[in-house]
Formats: sequence, structure tokens, C-alpha cells
Amino acid sequence: MEAAVEYESQRLSMVAEQIARRGVNDRGVLEAMRQVPRHCFVPPEYQDIAYSDGPLPIGEGQTISQPYIVALMTEQLHLRGGETVLDIGTGSGYQAAILARLARQVHTIERYPLLAERARAALAAVGIHNVQVHVGDGSGGLPEFAPYQGIVLAAAAPRVPQPLLEQLSEGGRLVLPVGGWAGQTLETWQRCGEVYDCEQVLPVAFVPLRGEYGWKGHEWQRDE
Ligand code: SAH
Repeated sequence: MEAAVEYESQRLSMVAEQIARRGVNDRGVLEAMRQVPRHCFVPPEYQDIAYSDGPLPIGEGQTISQPYIVALMTEQLHLRGGETVLDIGTGSGYQAAILARLARQVHTIERYPLLAERARAALAAVGIHNVQVHVGDGSGGLPEFAPYQGIVLAAAAPRVPQPLLEQLSEGGRLVLPVGGWAGQTLETWQRCGEVYDCEQVLPVAFVPLRGEYGWKGHEWQRDE
């Protein structure tokens, strides 16, 4: 089979077996996951397993998240198409690419310049032009472009960073993993005036958030 056709068939199976079967049912999200070529966002040596049911290494000790988790976090934002969204922890750029199909404008921020550069190249290669990739510490958000109707954070924070809540627009939603090395919970926060509702979604395992509102090096370790 030709490679592109083979990858498409793997992508359809990924959506049916890993994502829809586990309960993600937002049609826009499922369609975006069927369309974005995940193999274009992983290093060449992993392209053949790009559609497998787990995270994969992308360099700098970081990972591209499991497809199901990307779908679930995206679904939590309830996007309708007109939003400005912030994606913190660009990594491979894959989550940003999914968001780009569902929102008007995506800002994404990554602390490793090399990963940001590769993500920019991958997004351009697949023809996505409504994502702006920034380099820097995104643990306190990106106030220049706020407010956001949705914010996704793909690295575990010790607690919800207050600036992220403040950068949400009215009714806006933030999804992030909260916790440490030993365990984390995916949380969704929604702004209702000056009150923020929090829902705990499920246990997860992410790389640490670094930077001002993240974990300091020595704090992220096994308790012995
Ligand atoms: N969304 C990514 C997942 C990347 S893993 C994808 O689809 O591939 C999380 C990323 O967060 C890593 O690339 C890591 O370098 C980045 N990160 C961690 N702390 C950060 C911070 N304070 N600011 C910006 N990026 C950060």
C-alpha cells in the first residue's frame, strides 16, 4: 500500500479504537483527529508507530502525548470555531495542529527553541497557517494575546497557575494536568465571572511543567 494511504487507514483505526471507543464523541474533535497526519509530527524513526496508543519521544527528553489524551483535552474546551486558543508546551506541534482545525487562531509556546523550530516546520509542511509558535516560559500563559476562550497545558503543574485563570475570557475553559512525579489529575477549569469552577477528569502522567509556575528541578523526583 502507498504510505499516505496506509497512514490514513492507521489514523481511522486510531480514532475508532483508541478515541471514540473510550468515550470521546465530539464530532469536530474526531474529524480533526482523522485529518491531521500525526506521523508528520514525530521523529522519522518513530513514524511507523505514530498511530500507536501511547506517547512517543520527540527530543529534549520530551514526548508527544497519547492520541486519546490529545482528543480528550481538546474535547474539554468545547470549541465552536471562532476562538483564540493558547496551547502551552508546543512539543511536536501536534496538539496545536488539532486545535488549529477547531479554532480561529492558536498561540502556542514552548521553552525549547529546537522543538519550537521543528513544530513550526511540521505545521507549515502540513499546510496549517493559523498557529503562531512562540519560544519562552509559558507557565504563566501569554498575556500579550489574552483573553483566550480556551487554554491547554500539556505539562504537569504543581497547582493551577493563577495567571492562566486570569487570561481566560468569560466562560472560557482551561484544561491541564495537576500533580507531580507520583501522580497527576487532569482538571478542567471554567471561568464564570470572578469564580472558577473545577472538574477533575481522570488520572494522567505528563512531563513536568518548568518555569516560574512550574516544578523546580530538585522537586520533581521519586520520593524514597
Ligand atoms: N502538546 C505537545 C506535548 C508536549 S510535552 C505535543 O502535542 O507534542 C510538553 C511540552 O511542554 C514539552 O515540549 C516541554 O518542553 C514543554 N514545557 C514544559 N514547561 C514549559 C514552560 N514553562 N513553558 C513552555 N513549554 C514548557
